[in-house]
Amino acid sequence: KPIVAIVGRPNVGKSTLFNQIGKQRVSIVDDMPGVTRDRIYLDAEWLGHAFTMIDTGGIELDESDHILKSMRQQAQIAMEEADVILFVVDGRAGLTTADEEVGHLLRSTKKPVVLAVNKVDSPEREMDMYEFYSLGLGDPIGISASNARNLGDLLDAVVAAFPEETGDDKEPDEISIAVIGRPNVGKSSIVNAILGEQRVIVSDVPGTTRDAIDTHFIEDGTKFMLIDTAGMRRRGKIDEPVERYSVMRSLRAIDRADVVLMMINAAEGITEQDKKIAGYAHESGRGVVIVVNKWDIFPEKDDKSTLRFTDELRDKLGFLQYAPVLYTSALTGQRVHRVTELVKYVAEQQSMRIKTSVLNELIRDAVSVNPPPMHRGRQLKILFMTQADVKPPRFILFVNDPELMHFSYLRFIENRLREQFGFEGTPLVLIVRKRG
Ligand code: GDP
Repeated sequence: KPIVAIVGRPNVGKSTLFNQIGKQRVSIVDDMPGVTRDRIYLDAEWLGHAFTMIDTGGIELDESDHILKSMRQQAQIAMEEADVILFVVDGRAGLTTADEEVGHLLRSTKKPVVLAVNKVDSPEREMDMYEFYSLGLGDPIGISASNARNLGDLLDAVVAAFPEETGDDKEPDEISIAVIGRPNVGKSSIVNAILGEQRVIVSDVPGTTRDAIDTHFIEDGTKFMLIDTAGMRRRGKIDEPVERYSVMRSLRAIDRADVVLMMINAAEGITEQDKKIAGYAHESGRGVVIVVNKWDIFPEKDDKSTLRFTDELRDKLGFLQYAPVLYTSALTGQRVHRVTELVKYVAEQQSMRIKTSVLNELIRDAVSVNPPPMHRGRQLKILFMTQADVKPPRFILFVNDPELMHFSYLRFIENRLREQFGFEGTPLVLIVRKRG
């Protein structure tokens, strides 16, 4: 999916625009309980074109205290990682020096830039747009994010700028793996350890992510592909904070993955940033394996350490209950051989299909063990359940009235599904529909 990055000064209306476009969200993210409250990316669709949109204003940078500096960084991230850059300026405030600076930067990119002049709330205000021609970024499009005015024209322009589909070079029976995590958790190290040789990481091609080099390999007859991801390549030309962690690079990798390796640094414990990154993995609906790396230097280990660490993981990353956890050392090679084993297992679990008759038996059992609670004197009736999809497994429950379904009851059904069939490492999507 193409990535569209929104760039612009604070208060020009980036997040309003982001949320407006978000209203037309599709994709499985709709059906997944969200975990990131301050959403900075979302999956959207316009006229059949799916894309991921990211609000660069929400990316936390190390030195975001200075507006101009952080805007420059945002623009840089966008130029580096996005497919289309949506530059938003404020028609009421007029052209500012900061706009000119960013405009100057954006003129140097080969990536398509769409210029939106926000707060053009009525036809009379269209005059406000003209001075923005001087940015040299083509015809500005006047919009009003809060009134959703002209958003259609804007999205048309964005979609028209998408790069042509480059067919993925993934083979059909290959399991693709994205390795994600904070800087220094050991992503490159574990990739090297998995592949058993240092030489693979020489895939250091400067330029856009399009040049990313994926590594294909076969282990015990199974084909795998490691997606070249966030922070795995060292590049001198970008600012340090930009290089250190790129949300977009991670999102792009997750998007292409069957299974995501979510890496945690054992020596540092679970941080807020880990939580966010893990949230991206979860919301994508991909399979997830949690890899706690640097286990060799975990302090004061005893025979309960993994149990305790796993408890902490389950507590802090509650939404990833389903993900198996592996304790590794990329340095000593401890349990590294189990990574691909687990990935393969999770890929199988994601693709499992359960027969409708078996599912309905499960529902009958579940209801007799724990009948749905009454709601306003009415009783939920689950009439039928069927599996509609895999990767992630998606189930549709037909009921008498969807309003009567409580999330805790859905959770109960999900747990029954997992108890009976496993589905380890994969999120499950349960959709409630009124029987028509
Ligand atoms: P990345 O930024 O996530 O790709 O992290 P790197 O793979 O570059 O590793 C960062 C640093 O941690 C390097 O100095 C590695 O040698 C070190 N490192 C990686 N994995 C381990 C591990 O399992 N144990 C220890 N002790 N050090 C590790």
